Amino acid sequence: MTDASEDAPRAESSRQPRTITCDAVVVGGGPSGSAAAAILAEKGRDVVVLERERFPRYALGESLIPHCWYPLERLGLADRLESTGFVVPKHSVQFVNTEGRRSKPFYFFQHSNHPAMLAWQVVRSHFDELLLTNAAEKGARVFFKTQALDLLRDGDAVAGVTAHATDGATLSIHAPVTVDASGRSAFGQQRNRWREPDGKMRKVALWTYYKGAMRDGGRDEGATTVAYLPEKGWFWYIPQTDDTVSVGIVADPEYLFRETRDPRAIFEREVELQPWIRDHLAVGSNLHLYQVTHDLSYRSRHCASDGLVLVGDAFSFLDPVFSAGVYLALQSGVLAADAVDLALEAGDTGAARFMAYGERVCREIEAMRALVFAFYDPDFHFSTFLKAHPDLHHDLTDCLIGNLDRDFTALTAALGEFADLPEPIPHGGPAI
Ligand SMILES: Cc1cc2nc3c(=O)[nH]c(=O)nc-3n(C[C@H](O)[C@H](O)[C@H](O)COP(=O)(O)OP(=O)(O)OC[C@H]3O[C@@H](n4cnc5c(N)ncnc54)[C@H](O)[C@@H]3O)c2cc1C
Repeated sequence: MTDASEDAPRAESSRQPRTITCDAVVVGGGPSGSAAAAILAEKGRDVVVLERERFPRYALGESLIPHCWYPLERLGLADRLESTGFVVPKHSVQFVNTEGRRSKPFYFFQHSNHPAMLAWQVVRSHFDELLLTNAAEKGARVFFKTQALDLLRDGDAVAGVTAHATDGATLSIHAPVTVDASGRSAFGQQRNRWREPDGKMRKVALWTYYKGAMRDGGRDEGATTVAYLPEKGWFWYIPQTDDTVSVGIVADPEYLFRETRDPRAIFEREVELQPWIRDHLAVGSNLHLYQVTHDLSYRSRHCASDGLVLVGDAFSFLDPVFSAGVYLALQSGVLAADAVDLALEAGDTGAARFMAYGERVCREIEAMRALVFAFYDPDFHFSTFLKAHPDLHHDLTDCLIGNLDRDFTALTAALGEFADLPEPIPHGGPAI
């Protein structure tokens, strides 16, 4: 029996071995899990990926930032995206004020002429399938429709997972290291009670899709647009292939649910408040699919414990305003895989092995988190900020494109003159 369709990644029977032993088991086949699995398989490790869905499956998070190029290049995929047919070139991000006036776009190519500066809007079902196929082609064993149920323990250390397959079989997958890449369902956080919401960031997202909606001309056709609503809520507008646009709102729950909880009524009400969005959607037709997610932002108390490491959304979620999620997922998947490989080499997969990993990922998240908090501050405006600090244009752009592994002290200090910035989150290191 196989759960794989013709063109899906190589999948194995979930009826056969009920106990499996491998070097690493990865829970979740999204971008973070696929990245980790591909790198480990490439290094010759025996990797098992458990994915509860059948691919291709729907996923949100369609706008890539330029620095996705680096982990994609490491995975051997950077050059393949363009020819896939499910991507739209994204040259810029632009902001639209509450009156519907568009600011000058941030064009990535004005920052540098590196190939990374051409970013993409992607259809995630196909993008994620490409990534997971890549991991399977490198040798990862992928089990679809197989849901990780619980952590196996050997004393205090995680020693693998139990899982439930479509045929009803329960699997025990034994491995010296488990990579939790389960996304916002956060398998490891839930079982360890590590979930910590990020302070004031209790935002809600509500989204849908349109066909035939208006697109800006020329190189702005694939731009991500962030269009402001009152009280610092905002719309995203992400052009995709097939004449489809992903369009959603992020705002405080008190603002969004002030009159009704009906997603369609809320969406239609907010569209009327934002002239740029209203005009762009007016010529399109709504696909009548509304989805909502609550309490967007969190960071796990720990990024790892003995035998366990968390990647992507399974570790942390940063508000989506600057579209950093897929970048952080890919980047953390790659970085964790490198750390796992070294740990396996040393025969020690204890939590301390993931200290540098946790520090690096938290540092990158914090760089962008400061900008996220500035964005939501009522006193902060990009134009005023850049007028006061033209010398920081480069730093600001670095942050927006995801060049996050650098020193942002000057930028953060200057943002602090305009916005009430939070302290860095103190947790997120390994549980030692
Ligand atoms: C409102 C909103 C807007 C966003 N917009 C953007 C954007 O524009 N750009 C961007 O880059 N990011 C965006 N993101 C973030 C982006 O979606 C995520 O950061 C990204 O998908 C994380 O990848 P991941 O691999 O960590 O998790 P996921 O992509 O969620 O993958 C996790 C996988 O694990 C599987 N799984 C879960 N539990 C189990 C289990 N127990 N057993 C087996 N399998 C399991 C799931 O089926 C899934 O396939 C947005 C997110 C939200 C909520």
